[in-house]
Amino acid sequence: MREGRLGVDVIINNISGNPYCPHGPTILFEKFQASKQSRQYFSCSACRDRKDCSFFFWADQKISSTKMQDWKNIYNEARPNLCHREIYTESDILFDLGESHLCYCKSCCRLFNKDVDSKLHKMCDIISGISEQQLKYPSTFLPPKDSSKCEAQYLFTSSSIEIILNMLKGLCASNILCVGAPRIHEAITNNQDLSMNSLMLDIDERYCTFFPPEKFVSYNMFNHHFFDTDSKNVYKKFISQENLVIVSDPPFGGRVELLHHNFLAIQTDWQKEHGINRTLPMLFIFPYFMEPQILSFMPGFTMLDYQVDYDNHPLYSSGTKGMKNGSAVRVFVNKPAELFPLPESDYNFCEPCNKWVNNTNKHCEKCKGCMSKDGRTYKHCDTCVRCVKPSWKHCQQCTQCKPQDHKCGTINPGVNSCHRCGQSGHKRKDCQNKPKVLKNKRKFTVNEKNIEHKKKKIKSLPQSAEDEQR
Ligand code: SAH
Ligand code: ZN
Ligand code: ZN
Ligand code: ZN
Ligand code: ZN
Repeated sequence: MREGRLGVDVIINNISGNPYCPHGPTILFEKFQASKQSRQYFSCSACRDRKDCSFFFWADQKISSTKMQDWKNIYNEARPNLCHREIYTESDILFDLGESHLCYCKSCCRLFNKDVDSKLHKMCDIISGISEQQLKYPSTFLPPKDSSKCEAQYLFTSSSIEIILNMLKGLCASNILCVGAPRIHEAITNNQDLSMNSLMLDIDERYCTFFPPEKFVSYNMFNHHFFDTDSKNVYKKFISQENLVIVSDPPFGGRVELLHHNFLAIQTDWQKEHGINRTLPMLFIFPYFMEPQILSFMPGFTMLDYQVDYDNHPLYSSGTKGMKNGSAVRVFVNKPAELFPLPESDYNFCEPCNKWVNNTNKHCEKCKGCMSKDGRTYKHCDTCVRCVKPSWKHCQQCTQCKPQDHKCGTINPGVNSCHRCGQSGHKRKDCQNKPKVLKNKRKFTVNEKNIEHKKKKIKSLPQSAEDEQR
């Protein structure tokens, strides 16, 4: 982090009234800097890198109605020429061509008939011979978007799909809203035996070619924006059905407060449709080290011990190239953990905890729980009165257990504490205290950047990054 920067807060206002970028309404952020007044600005909801979406506007500058309109025009111009129905109708005609004639152009993002339109795609990157099976499971051949800051796509392995489907069965779900979970959508849509229905909400518009408007809705989960005018009705109709459950596997760099805000918006829409006041069941997929952030925004959630596996993520998956202790990704649920049985090959039911845990997660009699987070067996420290990672040592100077290579004096701040002074009980914007200067002269900060930093470390140095966390 650059010197003097204290981090960026999300300001949740009436998001749909904010200026538009090509990804729908932007988000109001507030940037805090040491020795300077904080400043608010609007920026893209979906892309955290300006290279992917360059929209930026200081909130204290006057926004004229012409400026607002200009931005709306840029949004409109970025929309595809054809609507979803037209795109799907065009490709629907090609579905029966047969494998030897059907091609997909990765450059134009469309299907075409080899015998008729090859000339049009001479300079393009194409895949020849698209089978019937592939058409049903487009995630198996669409190249995953890999920009780690915007729309990054990491796809479940077949065993993870199966276990997530089992979790849905355990909830007696019949209608599944897949928000950023194309493989779960594909699995449900193509398997009648499950007796489940699904609607996919995702920002990746390549799926318009393969699923009709009743099955796929182009949607941004960071601003609850529906890109096609009619699609909000498709969504409303879908959520009005019985036994709805949301499955969401968002990009891990996304702001949890925005995701939470928009899940609440979906829940409110659902409650209105049904005239009820209950909690909408949900499977929310995120790395274990985000647990404190997630629970601070979504207090009704529990983290399951199941390690979610990915086909194309070198470090969030198990196996030789993956993280030493298996994938770092978990399922967070807002229903009792005992409802989610896990495969007996790697997991067992812990009676006192009343939930399924990893075989490596040993119940601690002193903590009265299965305390491991990262997939390793934790050890109990009697001085700290808690379980810690096996590699940690109790440090006399810090008077607590720490990674062996830690710098004495650095504070590990709580999630609910002030980003400026480190004290709990108030947030940064209400802070009356002086910023804390630490022994090693570095200003204390924790914010989105810090979390990102940890994630980057996970990508390059999985072991030491894990040691930063408990
Ligand atoms: N593991 C899942 C895919 C998760 S990758 C599976 O196998 O089904 C994250 C998903 O979220 C991708 O499908 C991506 O297109 C989608 N996504 C990324 N940013 C989004 C946004 N702002 N709004 C909606 N969906 C988004
Ligand atoms: Zn092409
Ligand atoms: Zn313990
Ligand atoms: Zn200790
Ligand atoms: Zn403070």
